Amino acid sequence: MANYVITGGAGFIGSHLCDYLIAKGNRVICLDNLITGRTRNIEQLAGNDRFRFIKLDVTNYLFVEGQVDFVLHLASPASPIDYLKYPIQTLKVGGLGTHKALGLAMAKGATFLLASTSEVYGDPLEHPQKETYWGNVNPIGPRGVYDEAKRFAEAMTTAYHRYHGLDTRIVRIFNTYGPRMRMQDGRVVPTFVRQILSGEPLTVFGDGSQTRSFCYVDDLIRGLDSLIHSNVTDPVNIGNPTELTIREFAEVMGRVAGKTPELHFEPLPVDDPKVRQPDISKAKTLLGWEPEVEVEEGLRRTIEWFSTGNRYLLPD
Ligand code: UDP
Repeated sequence: MANYVITGGAGFIGSHLCDYLIAKGNRVICLDNLITGRTRNIEQLAGNDRFRFIKLDVTNYLFVEGQVDFVLHLASPASPIDYLKYPIQTLKVGGLGTHKALGLAMAKGATFLLASTSEVYGDPLEHPQKETYWGNVNPIGPRGVYDEAKRFAEAMTTAYHRYHGLDTRIVRIFNTYGPRMRMQDGRVVPTFVRQILSGEPLTVFGDGSQTRSFCYVDDLIRGLDSLIHSNVTDPVNIGNPTELTIREFAEVMGRVAGKTPELHFEPLPVDDPKVRQPDISKAKTLLGWEPEVEVEEGLRRTIEWFSTGNRYLLPD
């Protein structure tokens, strides 16, 4: 049994990680300021004496009593709509929040994991993206607040590793989906799920030829667990390498839902990456990890979760 602190623990990925670690018999302290996280994501853990939730903005102050073995820093708005709505908070949690979380790990002698992102590669000029690629990011574009905050966070994490000898991990998370995404967060998966379930046309941005590669959340969580327990301090991509255009993705969504979706085209957002696909050779070789859930199966589970009790109709 180990003691974990998870920032952003009430968010989509954070809450799945809380569930996973508690199920394995660990103790978890979940910190979240709830701007994009939701207590309903962790309500199943309420009353468990190995789980504690503290409502806290990790950019201001971070103090936790007792022994801590792992600090997992996941706190951040993570959808383009969210980081456009909260640009300063996004920069602060990636910058100041990462600094505070690193400080906590130092003080406790804990291992630190940074949840970084494929967005560090920006609109990539190398395809698929290997960890050695430095990226193509517009610092002052609308996505810059997220991309640059995460790039700064990687630099800060690496500096703590090099200069303070802190034991660190950096995971670059590619597009991930599954139950508990917020219906209105604007990302393509919850948006298409909501639209397909309510019989609306699917909103495809641009001509839909841009590509993404979608990883089911359970696969990601297994990958994070392998990385935490490895000794790999350099960044590692975790994602599903099956690449689809957004138009193809709309077709898969229709197939899984048993419907023929109508498409409604809207302008492509500024700086929307044209391609994205992880090279996961490093994760395969060093962690023995690869995704197992095919996109059809993952979408089936996701659609089922959102249909249960008409969750897709509930407010965010
Ligand atoms: N997208 C779309 N329709 C939507 C939402 C998103 O066509 O209703 C596109 C978006 O332009 C992007 C891709 O789907 O090319 C993935 O977008 P998302 O916001 O999920 O994440 P991103 O990978 O851009 O961070």
